[in-house]
Amino acid sequence: SVRIEILNTGTELLLGSTLNTHGHWMGQELLKMGLRVQRQTTVPDGEAIHEAMRESVMRSDALIVTGGLGPTSDDLTREATAEVLGIEMIEDEQAVRTMREFFRARGYAAMPEGNRKQALVPVGADVLPNANGTAPGIYVPPRLGQASACAIFLLPGPPSELRPMFHEEAAPRLRALAGIEDAGEAVELKFVGIGESSFADGIDEDLQAIEGLEFGYCARLGELDLRLIGGNDAITAARDLVAKSFSKQYVSDDGSSLEEVVVREMASRGLKLATAESCTGGLIANRVTNVPGSSAVLTHGFVTYANEAKVGVLGVKEETLAKVGAVSEEVCREMAEGALAASGSDLAIAVTGIAGPGGGSDEKPIGTVFVGLAQKGKETFVLTKCDPRNRLSFKQQVSQLALDLVR
Ligand code: ATP
Ligand code: MG
Repeated sequence: SVRIEILNTGTELLLGSTLNTHGHWMGQELLKMGLRVQRQTTVPDGEAIHEAMRESVMRSDALIVTGGLGPTSDDLTREATAEVLGIEMIEDEQAVRTMREFFRARGYAAMPEGNRKQALVPVGADVLPNANGTAPGIYVPPRLGQASACAIFLLPGPPSELRPMFHEEAAPRLRALAGIEDAGEAVELKFVGIGESSFADGIDEDLQAIEGLEFGYCARLGELDLRLIGGNDAITAARDLVAKSFSKQYVSDDGSSLEEVVVREMASRGLKLATAESCTGGLIANRVTNVPGSSAVLTHGFVTYANEAKVGVLGVKEETLAKVGAVSEEVCREMAEGALAASGSDLAIAVTGIAGPGGGSDEKPIGTVFVGLAQKGKETFVLTKCDPRNRLSFKQQVSQLALDLVR
């Protein structure tokens, strides 16, 4: 199979001022194509690029280099590549024209002369057009320089430029390099409402028995991802097995998030949703509205944090609040039913809980939460949990519980 390496250049990546997201992102994209990254290296701008490249081209079939294609004196990736491969550079006329046009279209009188060096390309390499910035990318096919048989991609540093260029220019070339026989498959299945160990207990042995299957778990906040890699048959067998064993917890096999699944399913059934949130402060509505098309589903997102808001907006009874407190099954039920009535939606979810670090008691410890679901013509359902975590994790976890309830 093709050995792929990533080389990230940029002093800011090592100073810690910029989070290196390229490896993370490309790793996922390559895996979707059935390809794996063997190694990722990060080096500062300067001499270290030469050294890292020399090493990488010896042990890999494809090297993806990011950053350092800009016009400034610290942008040295082009030069380093030509030097390592022992190839001359020439100015690509088409690239100069494209760059001039880029500046003209943005209202500049002329292209700064400094940008011209961005059109320098090792002789025989392909120029990869950049629709989102000035720096064109570069593709050096295998065996162009005497130094190596490794294919080299030079991609720009800004993620908004790198990502489209990766999809449009790098991915097809990598597929071609990998050849058909390599085209394995990789899928990620998402589950909610089950922990890593309970999941593994129920299924690990059966998965291990599937020939040609490689699998792994990734536990996230309120979510479990199962990664499957292998040939078509192995993946189908694993997918069937898992979908059958954990049908209730199963969310998606195409990378869709819980909120995306909720919006898709509710939209297809023509159902409307309202939220009444206390401890999550609008996070549930926020997650829902992050999904394109959510306007077909969400009607209202009530954030009723204070007791007065629960009473005034949702019609929660003062006496219920006085009797059992805001974090209680009764108040949660009244919030959900109040949101259903006020919104006219088909479903309303309500959450009320104690995020901490203050506010806990013996009777209601930190992490106590009630999640309610009110539905037209059905009895309201309230579930309770106690799951103490830090504030932000708690909110995320509660939003998972709530979204899981409506799907
Ligand atoms: P430019 O023309 O902008 O100089 P470039 O190809 O030379 O592009 P860099 O100078 O290395 O790229 O980086 C440009 C921008 O992209 C910077 O804001 C940098 O922080 C960001 N960037 C570079 N590499 C990464 C990375 N690995 N992960 C996330 N951001 C990155
Ligand atoms: Mg730069």
